[in-house]
Amino acid sequence: MIREIHAKTILNTVPGRDDWFGLKYNMNLYRGCQHQCIYCDSRSACYQIENFADIQVKVNAIDLLEDALPRKRIRGAIGLGSMNDPYMPVERKYNLAGRALQVIARNGFPVHIITKSDLVLKDMETLRQVSQVYAAISFTITTADDDLSAKIEPGAPPSSRRFAAIRALAANGILAGITMMPILPFIEDTEENIAEIVKLAHENGATYILPWFGMSLREGSREYYYARLDERFPGLKQRYIQRYGNQYTCNAPNWRKLETVFREACERHGLAAAMPKFTPEPIARRLQPRLL
Ligand code: SF4
Repeated sequence: MIREIHAKTILNTVPGRDDWFGLKYNMNLYRGCQHQCIYCDSRSACYQIENFADIQVKVNAIDLLEDALPRKRIRGAIGLGSMNDPYMPVERKYNLAGRALQVIARNGFPVHIITKSDLVLKDMETLRQVSQVYAAISFTITTADDDLSAKIEPGAPPSSRRFAAIRALAANGILAGITMMPILPFIEDTEENIAEIVKLAHENGATYILPWFGMSLREGSREYYYARLDERFPGLKQRYIQRYGNQYTCNAPNWRKLETVFREACERHGLAAAMPKFTPEPIARRLQPRLL
């Protein structure tokens, strides 16, 4: 179900320092996500999103952004894609991400987008404008295997299309990389998978890969994930329960080995394990002419 709503605010300030992406602000144009990844943390009870498959469209988001952005005194990176994917299929109809980028470009702000969809390519021209200041697109890729990505990320384009999108962005001079997280224990935590993702990242022009060799599980997301494991990976739930109990952080048992494989592959292919970030800066206020 898709429902249109009016939001009260759209641009939030990120508390503290964001060491992963260097974000100063973040923005969610939708609520819920059509990509339906089985491991999604946004399903956690703490976020109080009742039916995550129901999409709420913040139809006044662009007006709110037009109003909020010129008031900001610090120019800092705006993040899209923390609680849902801004380029899920519904974006084709509403174009909220595309229009938000136009507002961002007009106001000279930097942006960082996390997505699993090559739909982002529709906004190539605007991204090129934003990248005069700073634009980075991080594709979440957790497996190099398209069949596996269809099982665990059923509503998102397969990994191969995400790699192709990186290639297209890089060819247009736009900074693109990979958020390689989560890596699902007992499913994706093979040395071959990690080495292959790094190799394909390099071949397709990615600049960086941000890794995490594990996943998070908590109330709400855990029950959903375990139900999908029972359907698609019979027998695995018991291994999770045995190893992780009610833990939030579930590192892959062999994460140290995977990290070594990852570092060596990045060195071999000249890929960074951190992304170039935008440093926030004060915006010079235009002085009002004094009337004599
Ligand atoms: S794309 Fe991101 S927000 Fe959407 S379901 Fe997958 S993990 Fe969740």
